[in-house]
Amino acid sequence: MNLSELTAIDFHVHVEQDAHGHFSLDGELLDASAAYFRADQNRTPTVEDIAGHYRERKMAAVIFTVDATTALNHPALSSEEIAEAAAAHPDVLIPFGSVDPRTGAEAVARARRLVADHAVRGFKFHPSLQGFAPDDPRHYPLYEALEELGVPALFHTGQTGIGAGLPGGRGIKLRYSDPMLIDDVAADFPGLTIILAHPSVPWQDEAISIATHKANVYIDLSGWSPKYFPPQLVRAASRQLRHKVLFGSDFPVITPDRWLADFADLDVRPEARPLILKDNAARILGLTG
Ligand SMILES: [Zn+2]
Repeated sequence: MNLSELTAIDFHVHVEQDAHGHFSLDGELLDASAAYFRADQNRTPTVEDIAGHYRERKMAAVIFTVDATTALNHPALSSEEIAEAAAAHPDVLIPFGSVDPRTGAEAVARARRLVADHAVRGFKFHPSLQGFAPDDPRHYPLYEALEELGVPALFHTGQTGIGAGLPGGRGIKLRYSDPMLIDDVAADFPGLTIILAHPSVPWQDEAISIATHKANVYIDLSGWSPKYFPPQLVRAASRQLRHKVLFGSDFPVITPDRWLADFADLDVRPEARPLILKDNAARILGLTG
């Protein structure tokens, strides 16, 4: 990866389909989330689709799926396969893995293998979708392993489009995505780099407070058009948290083009922009050159 030639690093991109035509979610959840985001682009890109999309724009992308096999009773895409496919596009793709925290020791062993054998560079968690409370001590061995491996953990926080508009939100609980549950993890694993994904609606002030207080906590700005960012988030990104906030689109539900166009209109200081778009991500991921 040639850092100097990249215009930006998108820290939040979802692989939604594998090479065998399997999807990350069942049809009902995919349709409901496409309606929620009013997505008109391809809702189910493969690793190859994503590589092409980002290469055209001279951008890199952190890519992942979410393994919620036990909570959703739907087979996850393979993080091993995603990492293998990403290895063919090292100029633009940075693979993160996903393990199902409800599988306990198996999740820990698999996380270790993903890093050691598949060159995965971090992990994505979605507590609401995966149906787990991030501060539950049963998951501490997993965090301990990630801390030891030196790879970041990215947690979905706040509202989710998945299950939106369905009866009972299809059983998906928003409470698990309260960033305050992750504050416990950040406190107990100070060597673990944690990214709170998205404006954490309705807990935005909590997320800003945690990222301000904990040196190991960052915020990615994905999942919402910057047009709709709460004012306190824009202020923090521009000022006190400018070294801790990351560009992320949440592709495919929001395209990087749309995100960047709306971000250009925000009242963010010029000196904070390159930090948010690229430099902070490069530092967290240990990219050089
Ligand atoms: Zn996500």
